[in-house]
Amino acid sequence: MALAESIAIAVSVVKAAPEVINAMNSVLQAFDRSCIIEVDNMTPESLQPTGHSHESGAFGQAPARIDPFTPGMMSSHSTDFAQGAVGTASFVGRDVSLTIRFSNPFVGGNHAEVQVSGARAPEFQVSRSAGGGNTGAHFRYVLTHPVQDDWRFCARCHGLFWNGPDQVNHRCPSGEVHLPLGDEFIAVHSVPEGPRLQAGWRFCPRCHGMFFSGGDTSNHRCPAGGLHDASVGLAFALPHDLPPNGALQTNWRFCTTCHGMFFNGPDRANHRCAAGGLHNPAGFEFSLPRITR
Ligand SMILES: [Zn+2]
Ligand SMILES: [Zn+2]
Ligand SMILES: [Zn+2]
Repeated sequence: MALAESIAIAVSVVKAAPEVINAMNSVLQAFDRSCIIEVDNMTPESLQPTGHSHESGAFGQAPARIDPFTPGMMSSHSTDFAQGAVGTASFVGRDVSLTIRFSNPFVGGNHAEVQVSGARAPEFQVSRSAGGGNTGAHFRYVLTHPVQDDWRFCARCHGLFWNGPDQVNHRCPSGEVHLPLGDEFIAVHSVPEGPRLQAGWRFCPRCHGMFFSGGDTSNHRCPAGGLHDASVGLAFALPHDLPPNGALQTNWRFCTTCHGMFFNGPDRANHRCAAGGLHNPAGFEFSLPRITR
């Protein structure tokens, strides 16, 4: 998937609330030059601040740890007459480092830069944008893995399915086609397994469901009949055991009898499994990122 596509999805999942931006902005109006600095962490990594510097100005709100799937917020402002707000901040996760640079100079245009480095750098995509204006300029940086959108909850079987074209193959254990309801979910793909990411999840073209392709293959039961097909599409790695936050929905589980991903919420009569009966939860507690528009 193109870089621009994953970034475009990520900015709809992890983002600062407008009230937060407005509150920071009102404080920053008192300075000649000032920046709101937002670092959106669209990954299961905890990003720890490792260093920062200012060529001019100082932090109002200093860098702090950025939790998984959370926007990290900072601010910078001038501290003297005829001065800008120009500096850098660095963060580190597991074998990956992120360095951002923000520049709102006293003379000249605003400019942002971002760099990702370390052994795992190829697993990540980054973007940066510099906000305009002298005060409260909104700088935004995004760190994400490759992701695919359009994954949905099915109201008839509680499974996770890809709501793409070829609707005749959206086969549901209910005997009808999957019925999308609620939020749109995001699936991480094309990265190795990690402490909070389980690899081995695949799209099945016969039922459009998300299923775990490992373990006992005789339980890869497909609602289209026979077994799920792992031969096409992306290799997904899904996040689990994360602290809850607004960008995530928890309570997604693996089913032992069909290997599907399903939402283990209320209305249990609709936890319909391709193996007959109801889905049987086991293993990790998955949290799926969701788009909020
Ligand atoms: Zn369904
Ligand atoms: Zn299937
Ligand atoms: Zn099942």
